[in-house]
Amino acid sequence: MMESASEAKISSEVKSQEYGMYIDGEWVRPRAGQSLDVVNPATEEVIAAVPKATREDVKRALEAAELAQGKWEDLSPLQRSKYLLKIAELIRRDRERLARILTAEQGKPLYESRSEIDGAATNFEYYAEFARRIEGDVLPSDYPKQSIMILKLPIGVVASITPWNFPSSTVARKLAPALITGNTIVTKPSSNTPLSTIELVKLAEQAGFPKGVLNVVTGSGSEVGEELITNKITGLVTMTGSTGAGRKIMQSASGHVAKVLLELGGKAPLIVWNDADMEWALKCAIWARFWNCGQTCICAERMYLDEKIKDRFLNSFVNVAKSLRLGDPTNPNTDLGPMVSKKEREASKNFVQTARDEGDKILLGGKEPKNMERGWYFEPTVIDVADQKSPLIQEEIFGPVVPVMGVDSFDKAIEYANDSQYGLSSYIFTKDSNRVMKAMYKIKFGESYINQVGPEQFQGAHTGFRQTGIGAEGSKYGLECYTQLKTCYVDWNEKPSLPYLFPYADKMKAGS
Ligand code: NAD
Repeated sequence: MMESASEAKISSEVKSQEYGMYIDGEWVRPRAGQSLDVVNPATEEVIAAVPKATREDVKRALEAAELAQGKWEDLSPLQRSKYLLKIAELIRRDRERLARILTAEQGKPLYESRSEIDGAATNFEYYAEFARRIEGDVLPSDYPKQSIMILKLPIGVVASITPWNFPSSTVARKLAPALITGNTIVTKPSSNTPLSTIELVKLAEQAGFPKGVLNVVTGSGSEVGEELITNKITGLVTMTGSTGAGRKIMQSASGHVAKVLLELGGKAPLIVWNDADMEWALKCAIWARFWNCGQTCICAERMYLDEKIKDRFLNSFVNVAKSLRLGDPTNPNTDLGPMVSKKEREASKNFVQTARDEGDKILLGGKEPKNMERGWYFEPTVIDVADQKSPLIQEEIFGPVVPVMGVDSFDKAIEYANDSQYGLSSYIFTKDSNRVMKAMYKIKFGESYINQVGPEQFQGAHTGFRQTGIGAEGSKYGLECYTQLKTCYVDWNEKPSLPYLFPYADKMKAGS
């Protein structure tokens, strides 16, 4: 395939950069001198290399973060917020360049990358606004002239571990609340997409963050990630990724009881009922499934359609899905870019094979497109599934493949939706107010999009039931996950006495 002008531009953006790790305010090479290739999923070309850190490198980064933490904590939140606002400003200044790098390493269409870069900037702006709102409590004591105060202090050093599907905004969503609350950070991006994170950290350097406050290391989860988690310096591990990796992280963190904040897998149900605005529900369903080539944690990964409208809706859904244009993600007319890696495409293919083996009906797609010579593309795929227990309904499908089932009652749709190890997002299309209320209370998912689609907004709590994780991101609740509560009991009696205390008071007096 000929290299297009836009691809050439992306390649030169990336190749003109030298990538290192940022530790204690300096760009460094790894101790062992090894590197990892970064590949453009649309062209299968190596576009950059990043350092492969060793455990020693990670230790250095954690020690630098530990050293910097006290001074960072001593700044007022308002002083810290200035750095967050500066980095947001720089992200907006470099929007186009950052979006091109993101597309080059991840494969999403450029307009989606631009929107993600905007989201990264907004995360910093949103959490900067909390500078005057990191509030504790003042509580009445049971005793006279005493006060009880609950403070929200920084935890200390935070280890951030992020996935490849949103390599800019998921990182910003962790850095911003951690930094405004006075923590320092070592962040590790996915090895598939490290460039966007490194670029954010370069901007942090330009924003003038004190050395050691923000560090980046690159490498595998099993080595770099493991050291980040098991090292006693780490107070909190904040990780976004798969449920399998989240389980391992919980185990590794248990050694020194590090706190964990885990945003894990999803399997969002999308329910369309016969009273919905069908045209709108169709548009939303297409977007909810095929956004970022189906590689979004909140993507609709299974559809439950009211039997009364199933055939009609499905027919239209297949027609629209068929018309989606696959291709060069830098082309503004492209709807679907490639999947991020060959491995991920294989996983989608395997689901289609499972469907065939189970006798399910493949209504559309199911294979690699014939006209794409290079790149990890996969056709939009729609499968009519018969069994709620099928792996297609139960397991996360991180690709453009959607299993669909008909249901004969709204209660059944809710029961099926909840029958999942995952509990992140859900979509419901109905105009009936009773059904809306039922969905709000009975669909046990951390987010319900009712007659609308995502993405989630900054003020909303991004969180989930069951094995979707622990804690929340975004919102004031996300901020709280980066703080440690501390209760102070203060006696301000001029002549303190201990009437309330204990029968031993007299004994202690006698003993003194
Ligand atoms: P992944 O779990 O393979 O990797 C995520 C990160 O964890 C990577 O940086 C990886 O190197 C690291 N890692 C993996 N195993 C580790 C270990 N044992 N110890 C330490 N670190 C380890 O996930 P992925 O393939 O990069 O991303 C896709 C997954 O992320 C999907 O399951 C998706 O649902 C999930 N995701 C969830 C959300 C959310 O907000 N809930 C958002 C985006 C993605």
